[in-house]
Amino acid sequence: MNNPQSWEARADEYSLYGFTDLPSVHERGAVVLTHGEGPYVFDVNGKRYLDANSGLWNMVAGFDHKGLADAAKAQYDRFPGYHAFFGRMSDQTVMLSEKLVDVSPFDHGRVFYTNSGSEANDTMVKMLWFLHASEGNPKRRKILTRWNAYHGVTVVSASMTGKPYNEVFGLPMEGFLHLTCPHYWRFGEPGETEEQFVARLARELEETIEREGADTIAGFFAEPVMGAGGVIPPAKGYFQAIQPILKKHGIPLISDEVICGFGRTGNTWGCQTYGFTPDAIISSKNLTAGLFPMGAVILGPDLADRMQAAAEKIEEFPHGFTASGHPVGCAIALKAIDVVMNEGLADNVKRLAPRLEAGLRAIMERSEHIGELRGIGFMWALEAVKDKATKTPFDGSLSVSERIANTCTDLGLICRPLGQSIVLCPPFILTEAQMDEMFEKLEQALNKVF
Ligand code: PLP
Repeated sequence: MNNPQSWEARADEYSLYGFTDLPSVHERGAVVLTHGEGPYVFDVNGKRYLDANSGLWNMVAGFDHKGLADAAKAQYDRFPGYHAFFGRMSDQTVMLSEKLVDVSPFDHGRVFYTNSGSEANDTMVKMLWFLHASEGNPKRRKILTRWNAYHGVTVVSASMTGKPYNEVFGLPMEGFLHLTCPHYWRFGEPGETEEQFVARLARELEETIEREGADTIAGFFAEPVMGAGGVIPPAKGYFQAIQPILKKHGIPLISDEVICGFGRTGNTWGCQTYGFTPDAIISSKNLTAGLFPMGAVILGPDLADRMQAAAEKIEEFPHGFTASGHPVGCAIALKAIDVVMNEGLADNVKRLAPRLEAGLRAIMERSEHIGELRGIGFMWALEAVKDKATKTPFDGSLSVSERIANTCTDLGLICRPLGQSIVLCPPFILTEAQMDEMFEKLEQALNKVF
């Protein structure tokens, strides 16, 4: 960082970093990347990192998949322009919508495109407001989510997100209500069984609906496994307990599959892994294997029909983004779905998930300060605690997880600190040897920090 002309200094001078611990990056310098090979990325100094973060959960096919780059190039050559509105749509968009409904858990549905997961959640909220109003229920506007949920950064999706850092923006907005996070290990009360914990959360939902009035609630959004909240799989039976309550009150359940979708949990959708069928799915990230910014709202049969009827009523759904359904993004997504589902990537997740879990469990057992391992498929978190028996977290301004992640970076492994946890969500192409490299570097880092 002493050389004013260095890449690190230039990054520090001209960029406003988001979601970055600033004292740490000022001291260490940004890692400026130039290229990638498989699950590895390389910085300007030629240093290689194994990216156990898959970019940001999304580079599931690695950083140099030729088939995906070729699909992008072919579509840029053929028709890079887009026509998303006014009755025009590219052939790629038509094909992708068909494909998405085909691979969804729905036997009939409709798709709407955005540029990101945040926008897809915003779009879904507007759809719910639009259709409830059209059906004569304009008061149905409140949105239910959970503490620790992550749904994005736009004003609406940040209001849905259940993270205290949004208080600096004066969020959540009114009408966005957060229920208890279904993390039994952390939020279960002393002596409470997992079953009792789930029953308590179901009661809380029922009481919230009764207190607020079902006729004021537009929808309930949930990630099958909370990702940015620290990889939190739901307590056993959670969705089975809450879905009948939502159904009884006519509240749509929206599955935010921005992380879980397309293979991360070992199945195409996280909702399949956890045995529930939502009313709509929010997709992004893996949708294009990280090669194009794109999100999609996939409506199941009931919402698809109701939204279509609501739009027909006023002859228009007045919403959309300039690049909605961009043909290059759609061509990449069509290829990405094929790559993940038919080139062995989803199978690799299924095959290697038990090995990944076993390796991380062994690390946890050898460590004095890893209190919990949680996850599924290719998404896992190790939670650091000062005391395993009492689950007491560490304190200090630079969190212990931040220190572990920085040490991993020094050792050539990228993983993500989230709260008190270290998150590992490698690309789906990871081999056994690369997994062993990840275990080795992670354990080395833990030994240095603790
Ligand atoms: N929903 C979930 C579950 C996410 O994990 C994310 C991003 O990490 C989003 C929504 C927001 O997506 P984006 O960052 O593309 O706006």
